[in-house]
Amino acid sequence: MLDWEELIRECTNCIRCDLGKTRTNIVIGRGNIHAPMMLIGEGPGEQEDKEGLPFVGPAGKLLDLLLNAMMIKEKYYYICNIVKCRPPGNRIPTDEEAAQCIPFLRNQVALIRPKIIVCLGSTAVKYVVDRNARITQIRGQWIDKKGYWIMPTFHPAALLRDDSKKVLMWKDFKKVKEKLDEIVANGECV
Ligand code: SF4
Repeated sequence: MLDWEELIRECTNCIRCDLGKTRTNIVIGRGNIHAPMMLIGEGPGEQEDKEGLPFVGPAGKLLDLLLNAMMIKEKYYYICNIVKCRPPGNRIPTDEEAAQCIPFLRNQVALIRPKIIVCLGSTAVKYVVDRNARITQIRGQWIDKKGYWIMPTFHPAALLRDDSKKVLMWKDFKKVKEKLDEIVANGECV
């Protein structure tokens, strides 16, 4: 396992898949590296690629609004993606690209050791929960896997396209907030 310094260096120099050839900036993650919760999305978009930070575009702003409304402070989460370089045209990463990049994500999870993992959208669900899982069937239900509480929910970009998903995602995050409050109250995080 790499430490943070080594991980950042490896990611910054990475060209394991073709996404490394077209990125402007690598997007590793943001937030507290000692947080009790990780949020995992799909991959960087245009704004994220420009800034080198995840979830800073329109979908990220919507997610920030949701987290603020839930009073989930940034010190309680770390946010990143399945792939660390922008897929051209914001397409879904291929299995090969995800396979090349996921060891970095596993390393991040091992360093952070979160209690909760929120999968934002079907790509995160596919690679974190189960390749055959359907977001529409499993969202909003806790999955206890390998010592992590996993909550599958929508990607905030889906809410930009379909307003009706907002209520459902709000309900999912209420469950996340309740679980997070329990963990903080039990002193299970720093
Ligand atoms: S997406 Fe991941 S594996 Fe592919 S080049 Fe970027 S950091 Fe490397």
